[in-house]
Amino acid sequence: MSTGLVSVAYVVASILFILSLGGLSHQTSARRGNLYGVAGIIIAVGATLASVDGGIVSILVAVLLGAGIGIAIANKVEMTQMPQLVALLHSFVGAAAVFVGFSGYIEPLIATSGAEHTIKLVEVFVGIFIGAVTFTGSLVACGKLDGRIDSKALTLPGRHLMNLAGVIVCVFLGAWFLGTDSMALGIVALVLMTIIASVLGIHLIMAIGGADMPVVVSMLNSYSGWAAASIGFMLGNDLLIVVGALVGSSGAILSYIMCKAMNRSFISVILGGFGQTSSSSAAADADQTVHESSVDEVCEELRNAQSVIIVPGYGMAVAQAQNGVSDMTKILRDRGVNVRFGIHPVAGRLPGHMNVLLAEAHVPYDIVLEMDEINDDFPDTDVVLVIGANDTVNPAAAEDPGSPIAGMPVLEVWKAGQVVVLKRGMATGYSGVENPLFFKDNTRMLFGDAKDSIDKLVGGLRG
Ligand code: NDP
Repeated sequence: MSTGLVSVAYVVASILFILSLGGLSHQTSARRGNLYGVAGIIIAVGATLASVDGGIVSILVAVLLGAGIGIAIANKVEMTQMPQLVALLHSFVGAAAVFVGFSGYIEPLIATSGAEHTIKLVEVFVGIFIGAVTFTGSLVACGKLDGRIDSKALTLPGRHLMNLAGVIVCVFLGAWFLGTDSMALGIVALVLMTIIASVLGIHLIMAIGGADMPVVVSMLNSYSGWAAASIGFMLGNDLLIVVGALVGSSGAILSYIMCKAMNRSFISVILGGFGQTSSSSAAADADQTVHESSVDEVCEELRNAQSVIIVPGYGMAVAQAQNGVSDMTKILRDRGVNVRFGIHPVAGRLPGHMNVLLAEAHVPYDIVLEMDEINDDFPDTDVVLVIGANDTVNPAAAEDPGSPIAGMPVLEVWKAGQVVVLKRGMATGYSGVENPLFFKDNTRMLFGDAKDSIDKLVGGLRG
């Protein structure tokens, strides 16, 4: 394939990726956005394969092997394990940037000299640095999301100084790398920098705790984009630069949106130390009473209600209760009850997690509202059903300045006439912070797996 045709294919693919991002910004156009993305990838991979001069067999073997492993993993993974899978996939992009950086230094594909050579070396150094931070940081995020690593923030004394020292040493190694003509010394500098960047990646993400993890997921998404862009620079591949920049900047915008939603500054989140478990919460007081409810009582309250808000959380995803929730919504709406959903921006374990589940269960989009759209309506609502949500409805965020999640906007469900919380026990949410909502006078707990409870409620409402 001629270079001109490859360039045209790359431009078309880039446009399709931009259209894909546009489509993915809303539920109604998300399917179309996905199709644009798939078409873009097919064109990009096809044009790249058609433009290589040799080694096509080894490329195809690698693609088939990777695709085989990918299909096997994707078939096995549960919806609730998606966040850790996404984090793991980010780590692959980081590792790829490190490998491409080393191979691009040892055996450059493009011969360069003078200023161009220096720019190439900077690309290699920066690319490997971003790649190594992304690789280890994403592995730690994967471990935290999977529960293999404690989600609490690791706050070592002098941690900011340690991070700063690591970055300064890397800058000196970079100067050494650019100044040496010896490949052996250059590799020593790269290896030392890779080790420091890897430790930095681990330390940065270990220092971020509990409720701030959503920002980490989107931030690593952004890093993986910049790592891909740096690979593009190293390989002289324009499409990879465009795609990397798209992923990098959209991840950065998502991180900003998440920070705003959680009332945190981006810098304070990436420097870490927030979201640690505290025992200071009012809920830790042993005198408080929990009011337990039953399926019959909740059915009765729902029958008498005129307005109901459903607040889903991670527990709904674990229980896979969304189809039952959709059935219950239909029954109530058919009886003339005003049913709406309140979605917190960080509910679940992935940005948009709840929206995806509710769309999958055919809940109409127009009754699924964002936190800002619905928060003022709780005082005028008869019944709120909290289904497997915890941190995102925790009044401590609004009422207890000493709480680790203080200042994070939450769905103010406790202002409604009656709150019914569906969960299995009194466990805390992802942030590990106790929840005083469960002890409020207008809160009733319906204990049990969310799917079982919802199925019983649907049965009761039909009966
Ligand atoms: P939480 O993680 O705060 O709470 C989920 C609750 O669900 C738990 O308290 C648990 O209690 C209950 N639960 C678990 N399984 C079931 C089940 N089968 N049936 C019924 N209940 C169940 O959820 P939220 O959605 O409110 O908050 C999300 C949290 O995750 C926030 O802290 C957020 O910062 C964090 N996070 C979000 C990410 C994102 O991108 N959205 C990414 C990473 C972290 P019990 O065991 O007692 O049933």
